[in-house]
Amino acid sequence: MANSIWTTEEFTCAGCSMTYTATREEHSEAHTGSFKCSICSGVVHSWSGKHHFFGWRAVKTKPAVFGRRWAGVPY
Ligand SMILES: [Zn+2]
Repeated sequence: MANSIWTTEEFTCAGCSMTYTATREEHSEAHTGSFKCSICSGVVHSWSGKHHFFGWRAVKTKPAVFGRRWAGVPY
């Protein structure tokens, strides 16, 4: 398939701010679909058109906000 064009796009969950990446593939026919967050079950992205998203992966982000909360806890 010499015509397939894959691009990676990044999405952030509106519910819990988890970041995901997905591979977008262009199609000649319309597709519809959606991806739900594995943490809060919110819809991260839904699409319809001549493209499809697959290969969803969660991107691990630094817990900068929560890091302070545990700063005083001895371990
Ligand atoms: Zn979420």
